[in-house]
Amino acid sequence: MTKQLLFAAALLVTFGVFFYTLRRLARIFKLTHKTEPVRQFGKRLMMTLRVAFGQNKIIRKPVVGSMHALVFWGFCVILIGSIEMVIDGLAGTDRIFRFLGVVYDVITASADVFALVILVLIIFFLIRRLFMRIKRFNGIEMSHRSHRDALFALTLILLLMVSLLGMNASYYAGVIQQYVETAGYFPVGRLLAGLFSNLTISQLHSWHELFWWSHILLIFFFANYLPYSKHFHVYLSIPNVFLSRLEPLGKLSNMESVTREVKLMLEPSAEVVDTGEDVARFGVLDAQDVTWKNYLDSLTCTQCGRCTEVCPANITGKKLSPRKIMMDLRARMKEKAPGLLREGAAFDDHKSLIRDYISPEEIWACTTCNACARECPLNINHPSLIIDMRRYLVMEESAAPGEINAIFSNIENNGAPWQFAQDDRMNWTTEPVPVMADLAAQGKTPEYLFWVGSAGAFDDRYKQVARAFVKILNFLKIDYAVLGTEESSSGDVARRTGNEMLFQMQALSNIEIMNGYGVQKILTCDPHVFNTFKNEYPELGGHYTVIHHTQFLEQMLQEGSLTIDNQVYNKQVLTYHDPCYLGRANQVYEPARTVIRSLSGSFVEMKRNRSFALCCGAGGGQMFKEAESGEKEIFMERTDDALETGAEVVVTACPYCLVMLTDGMKYNNREADIKVKDLAELVAESLPNENI
Ligand code: SF4
Ligand code: SF4
Repeated sequence: MTKQLLFAAALLVTFGVFFYTLRRLARIFKLTHKTEPVRQFGKRLMMTLRVAFGQNKIIRKPVVGSMHALVFWGFCVILIGSIEMVIDGLAGTDRIFRFLGVVYDVITASADVFALVILVLIIFFLIRRLFMRIKRFNGIEMSHRSHRDALFALTLILLLMVSLLGMNASYYAGVIQQYVETAGYFPVGRLLAGLFSNLTISQLHSWHELFWWSHILLIFFFANYLPYSKHFHVYLSIPNVFLSRLEPLGKLSNMESVTREVKLMLEPSAEVVDTGEDVARFGVLDAQDVTWKNYLDSLTCTQCGRCTEVCPANITGKKLSPRKIMMDLRARMKEKAPGLLREGAAFDDHKSLIRDYISPEEIWACTTCNACARECPLNINHPSLIIDMRRYLVMEESAAPGEINAIFSNIENNGAPWQFAQDDRMNWTTEPVPVMADLAAQGKTPEYLFWVGSAGAFDDRYKQVARAFVKILNFLKIDYAVLGTEESSSGDVARRTGNEMLFQMQALSNIEIMNGYGVQKILTCDPHVFNTFKNEYPELGGHYTVIHHTQFLEQMLQEGSLTIDNQVYNKQVLTYHDPCYLGRANQVYEPARTVIRSLSGSFVEMKRNRSFALCCGAGGGQMFKEAESGEKEIFMERTDDALETGAEVVVTACPYCLVMLTDGMKYNNREADIKVKDLAELVAESLPNENI
């Protein structure tokens, strides 16, 4: 009875402290902004099974990832034993789940083996942290406190496993001495039971009690320590994955408040729905401006550094570290929340998340490549928060870099990021290209709209790609047309550089024109246009089937409409660079590869390919501005990947990637022997002559 009373008191204290923490956290969450309601529970459940329970992201690093996955799965099994201990402690029973019979044997045996596995792995993790210099464990954001926190948590887990194994071994020794009745199966406990063979029954009992109490009290302590440590993910990883976004990574959230304003600007008599959204400011300046999900992300972050390790900006020595963005948000909220809770929204400590924690230099260094979000094992989304900070800088402070302000003016005045007149949008053509307005005048609606894009219309190198694709369309006798001088910037670059107002103005105008022509299917060579039209225009009323030219070419090839004369490239070695907005953002990896394999028998992959591919360095507005200072340009790092393959032709499928990799070859003085080409160019050059 005394044991039960002591146990109940310990449990009461544990729950008391825990609920105090929860209440405090709930009040902080109330300071943050709402998001769209959480829906699609079935899909979320499947994602949780894959990502959280299946650990499919963490094992993208097969060796160390599998070790972490084993620790996770081990904890899940051991948890059943911990629940049993709590019931035993309160009820005064001994191994109450023993009634499960053979199932109990399986559970106890698994937990026993997992305890040993975890013990070994934790020793390895400790050695790695203490004696091996792993790059991702370091960085400006990784203070001594972070390292101490990690070491402390690892030590606690180590002690938990030692006490569990000790408990199992002393229990099994009791079974041998027939002092306790057999319940469960303990393969490791059986092996270790010999350590207790010379003890009397009373000594054995004392040892078992010591291990039992140490284990449960460590659990109680651990449970309350976790919310204050980087190991809060032990609780939050499963809910965070369940609540994470289901949309493609390339999609950015729509700002309803901006939509209302833009609709009224474009048409003052327009009927707009007031969602009641409280718009104190556009974007994120400080911790209380973030959404509850951003804050949950920051609490869940384990500081593992997998995001920073793949960040092209960080890899090339720039200040940006996606892990730091999460850590800074958590730290800033910890600093500011008490004042906000005490004094309300008016509380001002004359500090903010931007500038006091995260510098504009970090914010503008992001290419929005989504490598960080793709890699994070807990489905944390960093780019959305970075864009929200850009939205604040642009829409509240007009504090974008000079080159970015210039592209805003160009888009506003000319409908393109470059300073070319909209009337010159058809100057790229060298052969007649059907125009929507002309066909509409004849009462015709073509099957496809070919969206040429600003690069296709104005960039001298990329005009060749637009011409090549038109050559293919004509060869295939596709019923298509372009918008010609009615085409304008998709707004993608404006949105990714924080100018939501300009994006929505472009999007709503484009949608009005396309809907006016009854456009249903859109073809584009630009993955950025593809992403924006496919994922972001629907929320603004533009619903189209959007097809990237790599998908279209693959389809034509598989249907047999497109035949390729593979003599042109057959003897050359080809490699492929995955554009971020096609690959990671939208999961389109294979179509280009299928077409390339039909062109050449010698196709080599770069070491970083598909979802692991490194960004070319041009996304998120970087194409139009100087890169932040670092040790290397991102495009040079990616060019090195291409050079390593020994390929003679580097194939890509994006206007930005084409420019960046071409520059990379020039800087390496390799432009004479290594060609950088768009897939459309290769196909156009390989069309059977007689059919052209
Ligand atoms: S989106 Fe890309 S550049 Fe931006 S933080 Fe993530 S990994 Fe780095
Ligand atoms: S954000 Fe994700 S990947 Fe990055 S450190 Fe945190 S948990 Fe690791």
